[in-house]
Amino acid sequence: FAQTLSLARPIPSGIPSADDFSVSTAETILNSTDIPEGSVLVKLTALSADPYMRSGVKTGKAGDVIRGFVTGTIVESNGNSSWSVGDTFGAHLPFTSIQVVDPAKTAFGMWPLKNFLTEQNIQLGLGLFGMPGSTAYGGLIDILQPLQGETIFISAASGAVGSLVGLLAKKMYNCRVIGSAGGPEKCKVLLDLGYFDAALDYKQHSTADSLTESLKKAAPDGIDMYFENVGGIHFDAAFRSLRTKGRIAICGCISQYNKGADEPSGNTIDISAMIYTQQRIQGFLCGEYLKGAKLNFFEDIARLYSSGQIKLPSDTVFNGIESWPEGFASLFTGKKMGKVVVKLS
Ligand code: NDP
Repeated sequence: FAQTLSLARPIPSGIPSADDFSVSTAETILNSTDIPEGSVLVKLTALSADPYMRSGVKTGKAGDVIRGFVTGTIVESNGNSSWSVGDTFGAHLPFTSIQVVDPAKTAFGMWPLKNFLTEQNIQLGLGLFGMPGSTAYGGLIDILQPLQGETIFISAASGAVGSLVGLLAKKMYNCRVIGSAGGPEKCKVLLDLGYFDAALDYKQHSTADSLTESLKKAAPDGIDMYFENVGGIHFDAAFRSLRTKGRIAICGCISQYNKGADEPSGNTIDISAMIYTQQRIQGFLCGEYLKGAKLNFFEDIARLYSSGQIKLPSDTVFNGIESWPEGFASLFTGKKMGKVVVKLS
């Protein structure tokens, strides 16, 4: 029996809820001819819930199958020389627990996980060895281009991307690392990780002025880099604190994702000042790092991982495809730590 998660209705604004999604079950009887040559039959083992998926469910229609990053196992391979029965993989696929896939036609390809992960820690294929990991890695190294000892500010720092940015900034560039997170408990978790030098509880601040003051206490001489995951007053506070030749990587703007199409972000910047300060603001996407087209994401992270240097906040794990909407909502309510993973039985 294959289970599929679909959108029950579009969600133009607000935090998504369980009622916005539906799960269907269908008996799948496969004959050998149902797997075309070069294709594989896969069983998904875990589903990812990621903030970017908020835009798809804004404009989607009832019945659309949810697609996202997954881990899985090869059940049958019809002549595909790259994939054998029992191999584990990461991919971007429809959320259907059992399906036939042509690896050459998936959006990001399928990448093997068995070289890095075992059955027990396969969920890392959605975080550290998946899309968030490649985002942190590429955004820091390629977009921000840190110099040794610089100061970096990271928003949503207790999350999947932000925590790894903090770790890499400390391990690779010995940066002064400042993170922001919602609430004192999450700030304590950041400091306990050992690579955040300061943690700001952004929930104590409702204005950019107030957040800027708090950032100034943590970085009296300003920041050299800002890794933007949140938008809104975080961006304003970071931009006002940015030093000459400072860089901002626009990775995500989660504080804006639940807004309706006509609600503005409210950010304004004085671009004329940037001439003299020679600052750089750059948006980016993780795809080329994940696909291995730029830098060496898997190899570099595997080296750090196998040498025991990766310590991240614990994942938040949900069980069963029905729990995915709850996991997805937790991204926006903050009721989670680290990577949100939905395990399938
Ligand atoms: P997280 O695991 O960090 O989860 C999101 C976190 O954002 C929550 O834990 C919450 O933390 C925080 N948050 C939610 N709403 C708000 C708000 N209104 N204001 C401030 N903080 C908020 O997600 P990821 O690490 O996976 O992703 C981080 C960002 O990176 C996202 O914006 C995502 O869209 C982006 N991204 C971009 C990619 C790219 O290619 N450019 C690829 C992957 C991700 P808290 O409890 O601290 O509030």
